[in-house]
Amino acid sequence: PTFVSLALCPQIVRAVEERNYAAPTPIQSAVIPGVLSGRDVWACAHTGSGKTAAFALPILQRHSQAGRETPRRVRSLILVPTRELAAQIGASFESYARYLPDPVKVAVVFGGVSINPQMMALRGGADIVVATPGRLLDLMEHNALSLRSVATVVLDEADRLLDLGFADELSQVLSSLPERRQNLLFSATFPPEVNALAAILLNDPLRVDV
Ligand code: AMP
Repeated sequence: PTFVSLALCPQIVRAVEERNYAAPTPIQSAVIPGVLSGRDVWACAHTGSGKTAAFALPILQRHSQAGRETPRRVRSLILVPTRELAAQIGASFESYARYLPDPVKVAVVFGGVSINPQMMALRGGADIVVATPGRLLDLMEHNALSLRSVATVVLDEADRLLDLGFADELSQVLSSLPERRQNLLFSATFPPEVNALAAILLNDPLRVDV
C-alpha cells in the first residue's frame, strides 16, 4: 500500500512525503485503516517500527474530518511513560498536522517540571493532549483540563507505563474518560499485566503483530 491508498488525505500525505517516508511501514499499513474505521487496536510494536505515525496520522485525519470546535475540547489523549517520549510524540503530531486546513492544537504535559506553564498552555483548550499519567492527574485536579470529550485514547509503550509504576494513575485516568471511546494499545512486550490491562480496555480489537 501507499499513504494515498490507505485513504489518508492529501495534506497528511504531503507532510509525510516531506519527511521522506517513501511508503507506510508494516505497522502503519495494518493499523491506519483500523483507526480510521473507529476500531480498537491491540498492537505489538517496537520503537523504530513507525508506531507513532501509525496512530498519529489517522487520529489527525479524524480530527480534520470532524472539523473545528469552539471552545476546543480534548478529543484525543496519548498516554506515555516518559517526558522524552511525550515531547517526541508531540513534535510528530505538529509536523504531520502542518498542512491541515484547521490548526490542530497539541499540548504536551509531563512531570518533573513546573506545572504553571503547562496550565497556561492548556488555557483555551487543546485538541490533542500527550501526557504522562501523574502530571495529567495533577492538571485535572487543578481543573486545567477535562477529559469528558475524549473520543480516542492511546496507551503507548504500555509495558513501560506499567513497569514504571503507573498502574494506579492509569486506572484513575481511564475512569475519567467517557465510556464510549476508541482505545489503542501499543506495547513492545506482553507480560501478564499488559494482557490484563488490554483485556479490560479493549473492545473487539484489531490485533496487529508485525
Ligand atoms: P517510531 O517507531 O514511531 O519511533 O518511528 C521511528 C522513526 O521512523 C521515526 O524517526 C520516524 O520519523 C520514522 N518513520 C516513521 N514512519 C516512516 C515511514 N513510513 N518511512 C520512513 N520512516 C518512517
